[in-house]
Amino acid sequence: MKYVDEFRNPELIKKTCAEIKRRVDPTRTYRIMEICGGHTHAIYRFGLKDLLPETIEFVHGPGCPVCVLPMARLDEGLSLSENPDVILTAFGDMMRVPGTQGTLLEHKARGRDIRMVYSPLDALKLAETNPERQVIFFAIGFETTAPSTALTLKRARLLGLKNFTVFCNHVVIAPPLKALLDSPDMRLDAFIGPGHVSTVIGCKPYEFIARDYQKPVVVSGFEPLDLLQSVLMIVKQLNQEEARVENQYARAVSWEGNLAAQKAMAETFSLRPRFEWRGLGQIPQSAFAVSEAYSEWDSEKRFAIVKTRTTEPFRARCGEVLQGLIKPNDCPLFANDCHPEHPTGALMVSSEGACAAYYTYVHRQQGVFE
Ligand code: SF4
Repeated sequence: MKYVDEFRNPELIKKTCAEIKRRVDPTRTYRIMEICGGHTHAIYRFGLKDLLPETIEFVHGPGCPVCVLPMARLDEGLSLSENPDVILTAFGDMMRVPGTQGTLLEHKARGRDIRMVYSPLDALKLAETNPERQVIFFAIGFETTAPSTALTLKRARLLGLKNFTVFCNHVVIAPPLKALLDSPDMRLDAFIGPGHVSTVIGCKPYEFIARDYQKPVVVSGFEPLDLLQSVLMIVKQLNQEEARVENQYARAVSWEGNLAAQKAMAETFSLRPRFEWRGLGQIPQSAFAVSEAYSEWDSEKRFAIVKTRTTEPFRARCGEVLQGLIKPNDCPLFANDCHPEHPTGALMVSSEGACAAYYTYVHRQQGVFE
């Protein structure tokens, strides 16, 4: 199949659902974590949960980069914009994430020079056209977006740009999965592996999940048939008491991943000894810093950043949602104090956030919209 509508074919969807129903063991449950927020949105957007037996439960994972960034890190990035010489640039999702002092967008409205960009190259261009200012790119994302930052760093060096730096918050997908698997609260049977990030890292980084924890992983695409086929592959493995990494998304993901992107990341980044994740705490070797070889373009080396400690807003349960311990609508703030127009937590802002998916496709559709 080549075209999107083929992956949305109603007849094939019915057939696949019937096959899943035929194979599920009604005496057990299948708790499957979809790691990626893009998958959470696809599951609810296409109503896939309602097509499947109740014994299949989706648990939402930590694969939303905006959501896992702790407030302290946002505050630290925001503090960079206090310097009148600085133009702080960030992706659109980041602009509406609340820090303790408000969002980037609110600070922009108060006069700080904070600009939304679509890619790190846009930020680089700003640096070229504003040589008297310091342009900082607030970099976030998993290994999906890290290569574009890596290539931008290489370009900054090639151009000899002295007024461009990266505030690096890129995170790595495998360590938080290990942290979840090591948690005593862990009650998962299998994982739907993230499609986008796997185009870069391939399937190999998930092998430890099958080998050391005996949990199946199926790397999946984002269309309804992709996800249903992935569920079927997981059900088959669990029924046969097998645990393997399989690649359903072979049209985009190879086993080894994108070697050129991996090389660019290895050159420009180094792993931090540890990094704080919202809801998951400190996780060893789970984030990138700008490498020593590129330290000239590292905001953390160029500017004094005041380290802060913050706590989550009162009664917000973002951390538990990110760990898959509760559903978004179990949070007392859901659709109450926290909604897309006035988010309390990042999970309600991001296009990959689980709370935004619930609000848009479950809460609104059920007509429980105030
Ligand atoms: S509803 Fe809001 S506060 Fe509650 S978990 Fe979701 S984003 Fe966080």
